[in-house]
Amino acid sequence: MTNASSPIELVTVPCLRDNYAFLVHNHATGDTALIDAPEATPIAATLAQRGWKLTDILLTHHHDDHVDGLATLRGGARVIGASADAHRLPPLDLAVAEGDLLHICGQTTHVIDVSGHTVGHIAFHMPDAALAFTGDSLMALGCGRLFEGSPAQMWKSLLKLRALPGETQICSGHEYTESNARFATSLDPANAALKLRVRAIEQTRAAGKPTVPSGLEEERQTNPFLRADDATLKAHLGLQQVPDEEVFAQIRASKDKF
Ligand code: ZN
Ligand code: FE
Repeated sequence: MTNASSPIELVTVPCLRDNYAFLVHNHATGDTALIDAPEATPIAATLAQRGWKLTDILLTHHHDDHVDGLATLRGGARVIGASADAHRLPPLDLAVAEGDLLHICGQTTHVIDVSGHTVGHIAFHMPDAALAFTGDSLMALGCGRLFEGSPAQMWKSLLKLRALPGETQICSGHEYTESNARFATSLDPANAALKLRVRAIEQTRAAGKPTVPSGLEEERQTNPFLRADDATLKAHLGLQQVPDEEVFAQIRASKDKF
């Protein structure tokens, strides 16, 4: 994706079975950032093909399927991850926390704590490029499983991401969208925007293409995990009087059993 006013290009790199890594390249400066390192081979191949060299590597969280390619890929790149997770991430050159401002590929980049899937999970937001790298927090029509954090913690994290500008592209860590779509439909069968989106997802997958990144505005309208405070969805679930974070907890628990 390149847009005329910005020299930034985003490349989505499929890795392992269903992971995504992302490359951000600034054509003016030549800088290249990698977000998450699931597997070295496909990422190294993409870099070689384009003649790009990594300047920065950003890690969203410590799980193997987000860091296993790092040792092979890091070279002289600056490796950035959460200070809260420094003890269980590969060695970091820069440890960051929510509120920190980075300059990556010429882009002002905000660090957001999105704990829930893990505690210490972070996201990176590049407002001028309208990109957010969310790892296993907010995903296309879904959100990460709660391995470490509480439902209340994940709901709070998702609300921060939901508040980003609607045009933000959500660059998340996995291709789980079709299964997420089946779950979302079971919960929210009358949602017209969801029905349209599910059809588009089927076509995209049938063509062998990634459904990631996805637009935040579309997520707000169709992702059930962002809609735990939506009156219509609450009513449909018979949970009108239930606090939002408890509705979120129930939605997350039913996805785990789906
Ligand atoms: Zn994970
Ligand atoms: Fe993952």
